[in-house]
Amino acid sequence: MPLGFFKSLVQKFSGKPVDWDELEETLIRADLGVPMAMKIYNALKGRAEEITAKDVVEVTREEIYRVMPLDHPPLRPFANKPKTILVVGVNGTGKTTSTAKLAHYLKSKRHTVLLAAADTFRAAAIEQLGVWAERIGVEMIKGQYNGDPAALCYDAYARADRQNIEFLICDTAGRLHTKSNLMGELEKIKRTLAKHDPTAPDEIWLVVDATTGSNALVQAREFHQSIGLTGVIVTKLDGSGKGGIVIAIQNELGIPTRFVGTGEKLGDLEPFDGRKFIEQML
Ligand code: GDP
Repeated sequence: MPLGFFKSLVQKFSGKPVDWDELEETLIRADLGVPMAMKIYNALKGRAEEITAKDVVEVTREEIYRVMPLDHPPLRPFANKPKTILVVGVNGTGKTTSTAKLAHYLKSKRHTVLLAAADTFRAAAIEQLGVWAERIGVEMIKGQYNGDPAALCYDAYARADRQNIEFLICDTAGRLHTKSNLMGELEKIKRTLAKHDPTAPDEIWLVVDATTGSNALVQAREFHQSIGLTGVIVTKLDGSGKGGIVIAIQNELGIPTRFVGTGEKLGDLEPFDGRKFIEQML
């Protein structure tokens, strides 16, 4: 994961006292979100009049460790029912690819998976997920183009339950005519799944693209307010030297990152490891 952002910051400031204005600007540009950037900035201000690049790294590390959960419970199936993961997000963030990668990841851990192509508003998305499903060797359930995604997810759950499949992953639409339509549709999927099992969906993960910076934070806020998120998948970390968005979303919304995408191939998805992430970032 080439997260060189802070390393370049250290290079820039090494051998001379840190310029406060430049530091503030650099921290804000790191996509950590303004509250996190200011937390670090103020902690440094409280330390000394003159600080070095080493101080910046030390304090940044301390402050980030304070907000990031370092250990996540691994993704485990239930004993007697499918675990449902709803994958949501704006088109183009890597939602369908991440859904496929997640299925591949779970299969590589010897779990059984059923995919539901519930982005019924985009024929290309159904087709794309179908190609992935075949390649991975997992079953996919799809409905009619323009069909009801909630009904599709309901049927998918019933099938996963009947066939003792451990994980049901539903790829959902990323765009409808209006934002409230989209959120309404996702709400309906949630309600419909809950008819099978009051705790379903067990996870609602938003896919965000790291290269879009603060847009990702705005998306997380909107989806979280409307449907409630339990986690985030951050994609395209291979194309971004930053990754601060992971920290901004955790710090401002309390939503943990669960997986990170680091490329276009099926294997380019890793469970999020907070400690490794921070050390690579700094
Ligand atoms: P969706 O519209 O959100 O479902 O997005 P797609 O899954 O179709 O992905 C959009 C583009 O992003 C595709 O070209 C993917 O190959 C690419 N993509 C997805 N995840 C990653 C990632 O982690 N790294 C890189 N470099 N590209 C990715």
